[in-house]
Amino acid sequence: MNLARFPRIRLGHLPTPLEHMPRLSALLGGPEIWIKRDDCTGLSTGGNKTRKVEFLMAEAVAMGAVIVLSQGATQSNHARQTAAAAAKLGMDCHILLEDRTGYNEPNYRMNGNVLLDILHGATIEHRGPGLDMNAEMMAVAERFRAEGRVPYAIVGGGSNATGALGYVNCALELLGQMVDGGLVFDHMVTATGSAGTHAGLIVGLRALNAQLPLLGIGVRAPKDAQEANVFRLAQAVEEKMGLQGVVSRDDVVANCDYIGQGYGIPAESTLEAISIFAKTEAILLDPVYSGKGAAGLIDLCRKGHFKKGQRVLFLHTGGAIGLTGYTHVLPHP
Ligand SMILES: *Cc1c(COP(=O)(O)O)cnc(C)c1O
Repeated sequence: MNLARFPRIRLGHLPTPLEHMPRLSALLGGPEIWIKRDDCTGLSTGGNKTRKVEFLMAEAVAMGAVIVLSQGATQSNHARQTAAAAAKLGMDCHILLEDRTGYNEPNYRMNGNVLLDILHGATIEHRGPGLDMNAEMMAVAERFRAEGRVPYAIVGGGSNATGALGYVNCALELLGQMVDGGLVFDHMVTATGSAGTHAGLIVGLRALNAQLPLLGIGVRAPKDAQEANVFRLAQAVEEKMGLQGVVSRDDVVANCDYIGQGYGIPAESTLEAISIFAKTEAILLDPVYSGKGAAGLIDLCRKGHFKKGQRVLFLHTGGAIGLTGYTHVLPHP
């Protein structure tokens, strides 16, 4: 496994910290809970997309691209971090935002990630719900190509085999930290959406024989579809890396019981998780991904799925800037 073979532009503050959460662990009374702080990757308030865009933007530069396109939901963290990476590298950025939630609140439409997209100089187009957003983006890319500009289009969430390399790299980084700290974890938990994080991690963990089971907490698709998406992408990552048969279908496990009404709509358990993390560890989760991932972690501790005497690692994938887009569902003074 040699990631140095793949072009990469350093954009993140890496390695991210690996920290114990004593007050959360005590509150739940179960396992010892640790956190890998990928909310601290630095780029424009950080988050998991930084690791992916390090590899994606290197591909864009190698292609001679002058404009980067991406797409996502209105409060997309991926769009924001792509816009930031483009700004840093002196490229233009154009984003298609899908209205996936039906929220019309001014903060949702203009604050949080959307505000930062604009500050980084990205241009934005909106789309209604339910379209094939990657197809919409490719059509817009053609428009730029016809104008004589070289576009580089990044799939939603940056989740192709190139972007997922960022999370193979995260597995490598994590294993090093575990060895340095003499730390053994029994389980690892992450939010899983467009699948790149989950797929990259599972390839890295299995290739390194980490013997660390990974659980993805879904934020959109049902369990079967989510696991199939992650497995398919993991196989593409293996192929890109020249590996074979490293990840088996059984290694890919998702729990999609914490989605609530749907993507981007926080459930009661999401809001509770955000509040618990903020009050016990002063860690800010987000209402779309890490809040749902943490809701799963908390519930599975309460139910005894993760037990006393075990050590569990939660990957914080970032997104807290999105809180300012969700003031209408968050507690008010
Ligand atoms: C995109 C995102 C995720 C999910 O990662 P995927 O690679 O899309 O599965 C989790 N948390 C945050 C904050 C994100 O922005």
